Amino acid sequence: MDRHKRVSDYTAPGPKLRAGGEIDAWCTRCKLMLTHVILAMQAGEPVRVMCKTCKSQHRYRAGPPGSPTGHSPRKRSATWAEAPEPRPHKAWQEAVRDKNLSNPIPYSPKSTFETGQVLMHGKFGTGIVMGVKPGGKIIVVFEDDTRLLVHAR
Ligand SMILES: [Zn+2]
Repeated sequence: MDRHKRVSDYTAPGPKLRAGGEIDAWCTRCKLMLTHVILAMQAGEPVRVMCKTCKSQHRYRAGPPGSPTGHSPRKRSATWAEAPEPRPHKAWQEAVRDKNLSNPIPYSPKSTFETGQVLMHGKFGTGIVMGVKPGGKIIVVFEDDTRLLVHAR
């Protein structure tokens, strides 16, 4: 049964909110303004609501959040844009796909490396330079893990 809103629902002055009543609120799951059932009131304000669409219960939000919480995408620096923090194993497979590993550059903190170079680390073995960070650091994908190494010292 749909209950159609009347104009008076919008223009009625003063709050007539109560637990069990309905209110338009921001659904944190649907990411939409939807009708919610008020579950709890505090100081004349709804504090807890249930979305009538997805039935999820959450804190009352009068509108869309100004800045998304939780999974806000981090801005990537320009030098590191093409190679997001890789997961070790997959990163390794992708890193070596088009690389010739037969002639790696021996790793030394004193050497200067560039993205795409293949190096040989005394302890970790063959690694692919995936990125160069400011401050004398390189991101190197090894077969077992991704490591941050110093260079150009
Ligand atoms: Zn919802």
